[in-house]
Amino acid sequence: MTSPIRLRFAPSPTGPLHMGGVRTALYNYLLAKKLNGKFILRIEDTDQTRFVSGAEEYIKESLAWCGIEFDEGTNGKGEFGPYRQSERKELYRNYADQLIERGWAYYAFDSSEKLNTIRLELEAKNEVFIYNAESRKQLDNSLTLSLQEVEEKLKAGEAYVIRFKIPEGEEVIFTDLIRGEVSVKTATLDDKVLFKSDGMPTYHLANIVDDHLMQISHVIRGEEWLPSAPLHVLLYRAFDWEAPAFAHLPIILKPIGKGKLSKRDGDKMGFPVFPLKWNDSISGESFSGYREEGYFPEAFVNMLALLGWNPGTEKEIFSMDELIEAFSLERVGKSGSKFDPEKTKWFNQHYLRTKSTKELAALFQLQLQEKNIQIEIEKLGEVVELVKERAVFVKDFWEHSYFFFQSPQEFNPQVVKKRWKENTAGFMADLKELFATSPKWESEYLHDVAADYIQKNELGFGMVMNALRLAIVGDGIGPDLFKIIAFIGKEDCLNRIDFAISTLK
Ligand code: GLU
Repeated sequence: MTSPIRLRFAPSPTGPLHMGGVRTALYNYLLAKKLNGKFILRIEDTDQTRFVSGAEEYIKESLAWCGIEFDEGTNGKGEFGPYRQSERKELYRNYADQLIERGWAYYAFDSSEKLNTIRLELEAKNEVFIYNAESRKQLDNSLTLSLQEVEEKLKAGEAYVIRFKIPEGEEVIFTDLIRGEVSVKTATLDDKVLFKSDGMPTYHLANIVDDHLMQISHVIRGEEWLPSAPLHVLLYRAFDWEAPAFAHLPIILKPIGKGKLSKRDGDKMGFPVFPLKWNDSISGESFSGYREEGYFPEAFVNMLALLGWNPGTEKEIFSMDELIEAFSLERVGKSGSKFDPEKTKWFNQHYLRTKSTKELAALFQLQLQEKNIQIEIEKLGEVVELVKERAVFVKDFWEHSYFFFQSPQEFNPQVVKKRWKENTAGFMADLKELFATSPKWESEYLHDVAADYIQKNELGFGMVMNALRLAIVGDGIGPDLFKIIAFIGKEDCLNRIDFAISTLK
């Protein structure tokens, strides 16, 4: 028996998935899992003119990266397939015909040129053209033509579309699980095309037919679909099918709190809007992605979950399992949610700190390899331990640790001015000798060697140590100096001191 709880994410492959789309998928997934139901991925590709190659793969890769797994869909699993609408196109016509038979739809033969002319004439009078219960009485359709005329036109192969017949003078009322009761007068609705002259259904028809055939119990989608919901409710009524529960999610607002977050905002304001990097083959534009910018999927998902939903407690850090446990539509807000890029970084920093040294070292190793630096994971772990607390991203490790891997080529002039005095070179030469003959090469031992020297010669601790750091690092920064010295090894250490002495005259 199939579970009565079935939710779907139904993207159109018209481009990459915006983070708002990922949030829609996530909320569907969370509710499906919470209610022990199924999560389905359906690809809505009936609009051939908007098809973008690579978009479907992008969508799937994004969901996989986020850990949003689907139970049924184009992965070959599930008994309600095919799950790609272009592969189901044969079945929609029959449903359009059923609506005509039941008096809920009609043939419309008006050419697009004719409709355009009417549109322009009305625009000139500051009016808007809508194909609706009023205007359809004057137009070229099976409601105004005789049965015989219609049959002749069909036989002659004249182009037509099938439109939904919005009932006159009614009010459509339905419950939205987030917004409560929604009521819309049919006079405000237009007779949407259900079936196009190219033999393909429109989104509205295919979406309702498939949600019905796939036994979808809840439709969770973006607020931009709310205006379509009354038509969808009427379509269910027209077919005599039970409608699923609807929930329309709030929009995601720009960080300033006003206006919808758009695909170009991110790169303008310095944060990604897409889960993965996307190169637009048509416009040539490229958009950054959370993955490539170095975010962990856990951080991205945790941030998205809280963008519109709140747990009702102070808790902010949620694993996917905890989200499933805590999620409910009752705690999704109606009003837009402001996106906060700084908070997203905070989440990343949190998750970075929870990773094991080994895991981080493996990621850091990949970055070092790009710089042609080869180092074993074990050894790299020592560096990771020292810089991990200072980083938001693994890519930050480098700026906090480059001196572990390369000796200074130059010295920060401000630090030189402050730390390198006339007699410094002499102290450094002494230290170099002591290090050269040191029987052990361990951070604490070397520290004691240097401290001993300072004490015996009654020198300033800071004066000598800061100069030594400048010699080793090239700057006044970095973690425990003797950990750096131990890591780079004797030879490199002695060379660095030599180079400083000869350069900083
Ligand atoms: N194909 C629609 C989209 O691209 C699906 C809307 C819905 O979930 O009904 O968003």
